[in-house]
Amino acid sequence: AAKDAGRGRAVLFDERMRERARGRMRLRAELHRALERHEIVVHYQPLVDLRTGAMVAAEALMRWQHPTMGLLAPDDFLPLAQDSDLIIELDEHVARQACTDIGVLGRALGRGLGAWVNYSARTLASPTLCKVTESARSDAGLAPEDLTVEVTENALLEDLATTGRALQELRRQHVRLAIDDFGAGHTALTYLTRLPVSAVKLDRSFTQAIDTSPVDRAVVRSVADLARALGLVTVAEGVETGSQLNLAAASGCHLGQGYLLSRPAEYGSLIDLAHRPAIDLREVALR
Ligand code: C2E
Ligand code: MG
Ligand code: MG
Ligand code: MG
Repeated sequence: AAKDAGRGRAVLFDERMRERARGRMRLRAELHRALERHEIVVHYQPLVDLRTGAMVAAEALMRWQHPTMGLLAPDDFLPLAQDSDLIIELDEHVARQACTDIGVLGRALGRGLGAWVNYSARTLASPTLCKVTESARSDAGLAPEDLTVEVTENALLEDLATTGRALQELRRQHVRLAIDDFGAGHTALTYLTRLPVSAVKLDRSFTQAIDTSPVDRAVVRSVADLARALGLVTVAEGVETGSQLNLAAASGCHLGQGYLLSRPAEYGSLIDLAHRPAIDLREVALR
């Protein structure tokens, strides 16, 4: 009987696995139609100058407004796109939308505002990417230095020869490059000196450890020092508390990003925020 019960559980488990696989396949098929159905939307999270509290740029973060499941985050659906060329279409769509939105907002504000977009490894390897990026930027009337492409360490290392070429080409167009989630993977500090990078985004695991771990604080400081020496901008990701904010600034990070400063939000909310005075960092740090 015990054996039968075991078999019963195995059958149930099998059934659940199959159901999950079917669910993923359904979602993948829906994702293929999501673009033409205008279900892919872009949210924005400000990058804030840690000295002045001014919003200097916004990162575009992809969302899927699913007809029945609601608003889905990248972790829920991007893995379904990353093993096919669909990811390239999605990334290019977000880049185009971000250039347009940020270009309009920057002109309304009368100052340069940066658009930061995320490219996956597969997208970077697309032979038409640089052309597409260039036309997205110029159609939107965005200055080259106001567009930053974010690439994670892991994407960078997947195929360094190919990604390196794409990065050089983007650099020739004067588009800026940022290493995303720095410190989470295996990038050696020396990559910072070899790749045409203009910004380092410290992974939020570091930001969130600086107020508890002296070792992590020392790491943040030395990365920020090296970045500064190389003329790069350092961004602290995932700032959630006042002490993280203060320590990130004191450790030499130029820009901050995180729920404490602003959560990712729809374009309309970004417009509202951008028209308000700079964030009062001293007030925010007390939260
Ligand atoms: P990322 O580029 O490192 O983006 C930062 C992620 O951290 C975002 O999650 C953001 O909502 C979240 N975040 C921001 N501040 C905080 C904070 O204070 N605390 C915490 N716990 N989280 C914070 P999201 O939007 O879910 O995106 C996850 C990842 O998906 C991104 O990480 C990026 O790697 C990828 N992604 C997002 N949009 C795109 C895109 O258009 N193309 C590609 N290829 N990847 C994208
Ligand atoms: Mg990013
Ligand atoms: Mg990141
Ligand atoms: Mg990330």
